[in-house]
Amino acid sequence: MSKKVIIIGAGIGGLSTALRLLKNGYEVEILEKNQTIGGRVNIIETDSFRFDLSASILMMPNCFKEIFSYAGKNYREYVKFIEIDPIYRLFSADKTTIDFNKNISTLVKSLEHISKADSLGYFKFTSDVYEKYLIANKFFLKRSQDSSKDFFNSKTLTKAFKIHTLATTYDYISRYIKNEKLREFLAFQSMYVGISPFDGPNIYTLVPVVSQLYGLWHLKGGMYSFINALSTLINEFGGTIKTGVTVEEIVFSKDKAIGVKTSNGIEKADIIVCNADFPYAMKNLVKDAHYKDKYTDKKLSEMKYSCSTFILYLGLKKKYPQLRVHNIYLCENFKENIEAAFKGTLPVNPPLYIYCPSRLDRSMVKNEGDCINIMLRVPNLFFTDIVWDNCTIDLLTNKILKELKNIDGLEDIEENIDYKNYLTPQDMESKFNAYGGTAFGLSPTLAQTNYFRPHFKSSTANNLFFVGSSLHPGPGVSLVLNSAKLVTEEILKSSIIS
Ligand SMILES: Cc1cc2nc3c(=O)[nH]c(=O)nc-3n(C[C@H](O)[C@H](O)[C@H](O)COP(=O)(O)OP(=O)(O)OC[C@H]3O[C@@H](n4cnc5c(N)ncnc54)[C@H](O)[C@@H]3O)c2cc1C
Repeated sequence: MSKKVIIIGAGIGGLSTALRLLKNGYEVEILEKNQTIGGRVNIIETDSFRFDLSASILMMPNCFKEIFSYAGKNYREYVKFIEIDPIYRLFSADKTTIDFNKNISTLVKSLEHISKADSLGYFKFTSDVYEKYLIANKFFLKRSQDSSKDFFNSKTLTKAFKIHTLATTYDYISRYIKNEKLREFLAFQSMYVGISPFDGPNIYTLVPVVSQLYGLWHLKGGMYSFINALSTLINEFGGTIKTGVTVEEIVFSKDKAIGVKTSNGIEKADIIVCNADFPYAMKNLVKDAHYKDKYTDKKLSEMKYSCSTFILYLGLKKKYPQLRVHNIYLCENFKENIEAAFKGTLPVNPPLYIYCPSRLDRSMVKNEGDCINIMLRVPNLFFTDIVWDNCTIDLLTNKILKELKNIDGLEDIEENIDYKNYLTPQDMESKFNAYGGTAFGLSPTLAQTNYFRPHFKSSTANNLFFVGSSLHPGPGVSLVLNSAKLVTEEILKSSIIS
């Protein structure tokens, strides 16, 4: 008889683990608290507009495609990848615009327009970070770090020292590039894991470099079409997804997790996989101190957490062809405005990430207009001075609109709003149980990566596993897909032993 697995949470981590386990013959049931699946990769749909709720930047498409081939399926029958070029359009408060194309000869023109020295610096930077990426990909991103032997061996440690140089992201970029806008453009992208470029390790310069070298992609219908594809595959393999079911507790006996408690009572399973945010789960779902092991409430309160985001969703009556799919708007006083999110204050002039999928994919809108998400970094809920009420929402909306109207061609944007909505850190916490309302979970600082990040397998219950952005290798859809791959390998290993 096949072993029964309960997965807590239908985020990208839970869904992709489910599919891998189903493929290996397990009986899988996913319990999701919300009515929709996908977790933070979710959707807002109105009569006229379709908005990706959060994730929009699709890097490393092979991580997405790999799960289809693992399941023995052709990804083309489920999703359509569209390559994006330029990968970014950069707007600045001084009204300059720079396109960053995938094609090198077009890119060189943009870079040389800034200066030949910076163009050279950009390519040297790209080449050095590319080398780090190849090491990180081979030795860390695709390998479990659960066992001390995985990390504390001379080969891995040598590689870790090679990729983790001590300079901060911004300082590291500045070694190669003089132009302030170019520095800020690269630093802004390195912040996608939710740590400050003025503080965090420079390894996350991988983000702009991987985007440049391997490209950025869009899925027709938005990121949520990937969630729909996973859901279809899970159904095809006989898995069950129950929505609107909140797990209240993981139930233990001796050295095992025997099931989960919901409002319907206790449901038993042979294996439990928890996709709910790790620190939230340790605090709320694991009630007995013994099973928390080192992740006591005190330890959780001492750990470092990523920042959060505020997102404004605008459905527009007309098109704004000045926007590309991915746009970054740089304001004045970049450092001060970025650091606000990590010091507990709201930015005065927020730098913005503007996502306009309808530029490329008209299935995202049913009218003649555009749909855009505007995202800015804000403090997580551990900073208690900010109250996420209508007053704060209006303040940030007005700041965003003021900056948007400063972009040539977007002066009339406010008059052409047909639909408006928001996502706040408070929503992140209440909707998805994201601990502290963070956008990206536990901060992937040096002291919280690889072996030092929470492990896939519980140290106290040998059939309890964890998956998701607070686990190795870290936040972002492609990394969480890797996390699901690695946790599945740990489960398969454990099943052979037991
Ligand atoms: C604003 C924002 C922008 C982002 N942009 C990008 C991007 O452009 N590109 C990119 O690659 N990544 C991006 N990310 C990161 C990416 O979305 C996340 O890393 C990833 O979706 C996390 O997936 P997960 O499976 O770890 O967790 P989650 O998505 O949080 O899934 C956990 C699931 O568990 C459920 N759950 C929690 N508690 C319980 C319970 N007690 N009972 C039952 N169910 C429960 C939750 O409802 C949720 O569905 C972004 C994230 C945010 C927030």
